[in-house]
Amino acid sequence: MTPSPVWRPFTQHATEPPATEVVRTEGAFLETRDGRRILDAISSWWVVTHGHRHPTIMTAIAEATQRLDQVIFAGFTHEPAERLARALVEMAPPGLDHVFYSDSGSTSVEVALKMALGAARNRGEARTRIVVMEHGYHGDTIGAMSVGARGVFNAAYEPLLFEVDTLPFPAAGREQATLDAFGAFARGRRAAALIVEPLVLGAGGMHMYPPFVLAELKAIAHATGTLFIADEVMTGWGRTGTLFACEQAGVAPDILCTSKGLTGGSLPLAATLATAEVFQAHRSPDLSRAFFHSSSYTANPIACAAALANVEIWRTEPVLERIAALGRAQRMRLEALAANARFARPRVCGTITAIDLALGGSGYLAAVGPRLRAEFLRRDILLRPLGNVIYVLPPYCVTDADLDAAYQAIGEAADAVS
Ligand SMILES: *Cc1c(COP(=O)(O)O)cnc(C)c1O
Repeated sequence: MTPSPVWRPFTQHATEPPATEVVRTEGAFLETRDGRRILDAISSWWVVTHGHRHPTIMTAIAEATQRLDQVIFAGFTHEPAERLARALVEMAPPGLDHVFYSDSGSTSVEVALKMALGAARNRGEARTRIVVMEHGYHGDTIGAMSVGARGVFNAAYEPLLFEVDTLPFPAAGREQATLDAFGAFARGRRAAALIVEPLVLGAGGMHMYPPFVLAELKAIAHATGTLFIADEVMTGWGRTGTLFACEQAGVAPDILCTSKGLTGGSLPLAATLATAEVFQAHRSPDLSRAFFHSSSYTANPIACAAALANVEIWRTEPVLERIAALGRAQRMRLEALAANARFARPRVCGTITAIDLALGGSGYLAAVGPRLRAEFLRRDILLRPLGNVIYVLPPYCVTDADLDAAYQAIGEAADAVS
């Protein structure tokens, strides 16, 4: 057979083994063409929350296709989008009264940045800077890369990226330095917005920080008229133990980005929620003040129906209890693993655990990453370390036995690559 024409994401085709073909998914598992059942311990890149092919979501999608496909969303509307927007406003932190739909996490971030700049311009304020956090990740489009950490992923595109003001990561004991840096940038009154991943910086290496930092950042933003953007693309929908991570800090952002778990991980959809203040800054008899953004597939009715089914699951199933139990089960196993001297910096936030393998160098290009991945796959476990950072981010339906298998594989793989 000729090689596949598919060019895969984040893949070095010269060195990586061929992709594994999946023919069926169910719950926490991927079933392969050659009959293996692989535990999806990273929720297929963090999107699948309740489990693959949750029946409530699959049924909602099937029913939605009986009536609607894509519908233009300027000048027209449809029930799935209207109902979902109301549900999101009700479930999100208070004050986020407006919902702008798009189709990926990166796009929801681009939308948030454009809202912040647009609001400043429409108010006649010379605020054009964005403040970001060290190790942040917000997506792979040019704007989203600009507000994320610079490194090997975006070195080639650096000439296209805009300048930002970067806060040091609030490592334990050094939180004040982060707050002071933000205070200095914000008091300059050139900052339109601060964008942060609340509580967990995902792709940057699963760095975790406590809720009080988030609350303090929000207080500074509020006092200085800087908009506070919470990128909850990964942390939303229960990942950190609450529906949204901001809840743990009692923080209501001015703008909130959600995607990944919004449809339970079944279909691409994103939403950027904004306060009345941000919305009103764009509302005017003057067309030139409108918010100039659209995705062709904005508010896709089938994706909105899938998201409504996800909301239904949150409302009718004991999801919070389930993720609390998952958090405890993960913590127990991580603590056992941390006794092994090969590991360092065990950390937990809600349903997410992470630990560093203390050998083979650090950083995303650490050679140990691909070797670990291969060891996991040999054991029918899908884990995808970020360099030397091993993390477990499973669907909420995962069982204790599944977790045992995952953590046993982590111990064995660490031995195998040592
Ligand atoms: C994954 C992610 C994004 C980008 O989402 P895509 O759907 O991949 O574009 C943005 N922000 C955070 C925090 C993410 O984890």
